[in-house]
Amino acid sequence: MSDSEKKALSGLTLDQLVEFATESGLPAFRGKQLHSWIYAKYARTFDEMTDLSLEVRELLKSKATIQLLKLAHLEVSRDGTRKYLFELPDGKFVESVLMSFDDRPSLSACVSSQVGCAVGCTFCATGFLGFKRNLSPQEIVDQVMSVQRESGQRISNIVYMGQGEPLLNVDNVVHSIRTLMASVGIGARHITVSTSGIIAGIRALSREGLQITLALSLHAPDDATRDVIVPINKKFSVAELIDATHEYYEATGRRITVEYVLLAGVTDSPEQARELAELVRNLHCNVNLIPYNPTRAEDGVVTYARPSLDAQHRFRKIAESTGKTVTIRLERGTDINAACGQLHNSYVAGP
Ligand code: SAH
Ligand code: SF4
Repeated sequence: MSDSEKKALSGLTLDQLVEFATESGLPAFRGKQLHSWIYAKYARTFDEMTDLSLEVRELLKSKATIQLLKLAHLEVSRDGTRKYLFELPDGKFVESVLMSFDDRPSLSACVSSQVGCAVGCTFCATGFLGFKRNLSPQEIVDQVMSVQRESGQRISNIVYMGQGEPLLNVDNVVHSIRTLMASVGIGARHITVSTSGIIAGIRALSREGLQITLALSLHAPDDATRDVIVPINKKFSVAELIDATHEYYEATGRRITVEYVLLAGVTDSPEQARELAELVRNLHCNVNLIPYNPTRAEDGVVTYARPSLDAQHRFRKIAESTGKTVTIRLERGTDINAACGQLHNSYVAGP
């Protein structure tokens, strides 16, 4: 059996591993042992599994592999951020990012939920790729496990801010969150799902009753601007979106993160800052401003510009005026195109 025909085990749930063991003619507890080797010890090979007999290890090798995703390329930024390009079983590619912050001991992984994205925000490199397909729960979880195996470090926080719109793949995303909690040991409060504003998806997520953080990529307080830069806004207006996030708070008690990209001359006016402050006045939220990271459209043109530091701080001061905490996102990995919105499989597509 070639490796591609074997069953990959990393990213499977405990039940799936027990099922795999019994289907392979092994007792159920072998599934539990596999679970512990994969998730607690980051095993890369069956030979490391020293509490399994040689015979069992050989049987496993003949039927299974550990990794599902293949590491195709790794880039390390000057600031330590690591960007991984993974090859999926069907030959498509996605990216994941590992970020550390000097002022915190925690490590965050940014995972992709789809290959490409259908939403087509005009400032986002993933949007330029168009939508290819959804990722399976196993493909999402194995991004985290592959990063842990490669880096040898334990990840404490997960953000669904890589490629794709998580709430257009909500069933698989929820399934992956449950595995990250149960098998990888990540607390719900350390998981953030970022959405461009898919209302049905926000409602579906509310019903799951998970204590995760919802991040809403608002980016403009008015429909006229948002219709242009987040085209899906033509379906769901800003007012409807804000209502849906209120409902999310009511259902979960979790404070929302409102993300707002600062595009010079498009979303950074004092007027928009005032409108934003008013819009979120009664919402339980923090606001996170993301100064635009340069991205190139297919034609190589960089359409937008990042506002000056002065303009960023002026916007922040006004946005804070109704009492919200407003932060400016610390960018990571810009030199290797790993920052927000820059993920586009450049290794494959050409820079
Ligand atoms: N699809 C989801 C999650 C992925 S993007 C979403 O849109 O929310 C993660 C964040 O990066 C989003 O807030 C997104 O709008 C923002 N982003 C996209 N392109 C960017 C760019 N070029 N510069 C800065 N932020 C960007
Ligand atoms: Fe898709 Fe998010 Fe990029 Fe918009 S910002 S195109 S929703 S990945």
